[in-house]
Amino acid sequence: MRDLTVFCAMEATRYSLETPFVIDGYEYFSDGRICIKRKTDKPETTDKTPDCEACFKQSREISLTTPIPILDPSYSDEKCTFCLGTGKEHVICNMCDGFGCHDCDCGTDHECGYCDATGRIECYNDKFCLYCDGKRLGFRDVRIEDVLFKGYYIGLIFRMFDNPKVVSLAISCKKVHDEPQGTGSMRFTFNGGEGLLMSISEN
Ligand SMILES: [Zn+2]
Ligand SMILES: [Zn+2]
Ligand SMILES: [Zn+2]
Repeated sequence: MRDLTVFCAMEATRYSLETPFVIDGYEYFSDGRICIKRKTDKPETTDKTPDCEACFKQSREISLTTPIPILDPSYSDEKCTFCLGTGKEHVICNMCDGFGCHDCDCGTDHECGYCDATGRIECYNDKFCLYCDGKRLGFRDVRIEDVLFKGYYIGLIFRMFDNPKVVSLAISCKKVHDEPQGTGSMRFTFNGGEGLLMSISEN
């Protein structure tokens, strides 16, 4: 079984999403912007868990007017933010939880000396970066109408699953002060599970 904890929250501010949890025979991995669920035999989580299923339910109920695009993730011109453009395997710095700095009682943040304020630690092995597969580049964001989906996640979905397929798309666009603004989610399936990706705002 593939390790899907890359979809869990890295920021130390989202405690309930830092580790996967199990509800009704499904294991959930989420950071609040993406949620993955797959079947599992693991025991149910007894602590209080976030209600990801409400989001899935909502996305299933929305009927579609837009044809579903076929996603073809392509690399952008920008450096992969995860491996800092090196292409080498990195992990999140556990001293600063990936933030690159530490809160301090003096009121200012201090740069993390352990990771040189990058939030990443190189593994120094022969493995490629999990996110860009050694290509050193990030993925292009995907725009559908006025709704933007982060390339980082699209790339990750295609890296982690074989033949992921977008099965539904729920988007809503409105004009605010003549500026189009959209929000939405895309639901996709893969062998043994499904996922939901939320859009990002442009600013
Ligand atoms: Zn990379
Ligand atoms: Zn200080
Ligand atoms: Zn650090």
